[in-house]
Amino acid sequence: MSPTTMIAFIERFVHENDLDSIQELEAKEEDDILVLFKGMELQGTVEYGFNGSAGKDFGGMQSSKPLAVIKPADKEDVAKVIRIASRLQHLTVAARGNGHSVNGQAMAHRGFVVDMKSMESKIEVAPTGTYADVSGGALWEEVLKRCVLSHGLAPRSWTDYLGLTVGGTLSNAGVSGQTFIYGPQTENVTELEVVTGKGDVTVCSRTQNSELFFSVLGGLGQFGIITRARVLLQPAPNLVRWTRVVYSEFSEFSRDAELLVTQAEGDSFDYVEGFVFVNSDDSVNGWPSVPLDANRPFDPTCIPRTAGPVLYCLEVALHHRKDDRRSAVGMRVERLLGQLSFCKDLRFEVDVSYMEFLLRVKRAEEEAKASGIWDAPHPWLNIFVSKRDIADFDRVVFKNILKHGVGGPMLVYPLLRSKWDIRTSIVLPEAEDDVFYIIALLRFYLPFPRGLSVEEMIAQNQEIIRCCNTNGFDFKLYLPHYNSKEGWKQHFGNQWTRFQEKKACFDPKAILAPGQKIFPKNWQLS
Ligand code: FAD
Repeated sequence: MSPTTMIAFIERFVHENDLDSIQELEAKEEDDILVLFKGMELQGTVEYGFNGSAGKDFGGMQSSKPLAVIKPADKEDVAKVIRIASRLQHLTVAARGNGHSVNGQAMAHRGFVVDMKSMESKIEVAPTGTYADVSGGALWEEVLKRCVLSHGLAPRSWTDYLGLTVGGTLSNAGVSGQTFIYGPQTENVTELEVVTGKGDVTVCSRTQNSELFFSVLGGLGQFGIITRARVLLQPAPNLVRWTRVVYSEFSEFSRDAELLVTQAEGDSFDYVEGFVFVNSDDSVNGWPSVPLDANRPFDPTCIPRTAGPVLYCLEVALHHRKDDRRSAVGMRVERLLGQLSFCKDLRFEVDVSYMEFLLRVKRAEEEAKASGIWDAPHPWLNIFVSKRDIADFDRVVFKNILKHGVGGPMLVYPLLRSKWDIRTSIVLPEAEDDVFYIIALLRFYLPFPRGLSVEEMIAQNQEIIRCCNTNGFDFKLYLPHYNSKEGWKQHFGNQWTRFQEKKACFDPKAILAPGQKIFPKNWQLS
């Protein structure tokens, strides 16, 4: 079959809805796609068939049947795949990082999935030690290990969990306890190499092709596939003093958290996060989720009698070096904690290596894999809420809807708008206050009778969003997911027109990231 006939064939396949035709086509398609890809002379490999991991994601709630999964050898392969897709009316291309989205964002039903993680992971530290050039499919944990072990250097801004790809988190934001100092990960890259939706390989930065650079950061994969990122580095510490302190009142928790994130640079902790937990002995949602050391359990007699159904934990960390005097580190921690008004005797502390601290969620992953809950569905919900509404959010959501927990962490901590460049594609709450909060409801499915069913968890998420809307809260979804154009229009608000213009410029046929369900293929013609 010639490439032209092949294109006509695939064209029929990808928009064919008749079951018999699909089965007939499915039976033939493997050989035929082979012909098409042979014409492309890819250096990498192509896998056919519909049941691999590329049709699933961490959310475990959606599945799809890609036409083929491409394991590219280099950026040229990525460009070739996009170019061939642009010749086919209905074919789409999804870059897949580590597939840790929860709503099918990295899927391409009857399209091509480009498995970025299979590209050789290059992590090249510059001789100056100020940055590393890292491939888009590299995992952050690979970046950590290479930079720290070989060079004593480390990126400045992280996510909590590092089994995520560089391209995947840069397409969203990349948020963790260092964000209040350095901004999200999108603020900590100075150059990107991107294959646009037109199949052009382009290097961009704040000064070179800046429109593409800012569009791609937080761009939900809509404008191009990131094949390389230049990540800023700094000297890595050896050790981390990791502390958790408990509050019974949200007002005190938020006041202290905001105090820490707004102190002058270098005058605070190196990491500030927080979470809500249930005021009970529930082993997953309650008091036992707080201690850092098995030898220092949670003493519930220290909880004030006035405490409500949930409590709050501020989690902080201070970096130090092996040769720092322990007493000096202790004094700095005491000075910082001395300003705070947490519950006396509900303080937990350990010293761990820097690597151990950054890989802390990996240990949770290993445990969850062993118990089977890692691979169960995860209806996660992440929201940015403005400071104006955070106390009301606590009252109506944490103390009421979520008073029994979510079977996993319920993160809540402040971030600073001034650390986020407004030229990226990321959408934040509208109020002008510098402080806003991230809420992450990291649900784990605990089988009946311990937890909610998946449907109930999804319904609870919807109830929370409804509640935010009816109360007029100023909020935006982080890692957003909508099924309708109206939903996306509302999400982007006054940035919607601009977002469409950027799409028209860099991916005019809407080939890329179809799993985000923002633009149908050839949306401008429809
Ligand atoms: P995928 O899920 O594979 O892809 C996400 C989107 O980006 C898709 O639309 C995809 O097409 C696109 N994409 C992927 N690679 C590229 C590329 N190279 N170029 C362009 N587009 C691309 N987020 C935080 O901010 N902070 C956290 O602490 C955090 N912790 C998490 C912990 C866990 C256990 C999980 C499952 C998720 C967590 N996340 C966190 C969310 C995470 O950042 C996003 O889900 C991210 O998209 C996942 O990265 P990934 O590499 O798996 O991307």
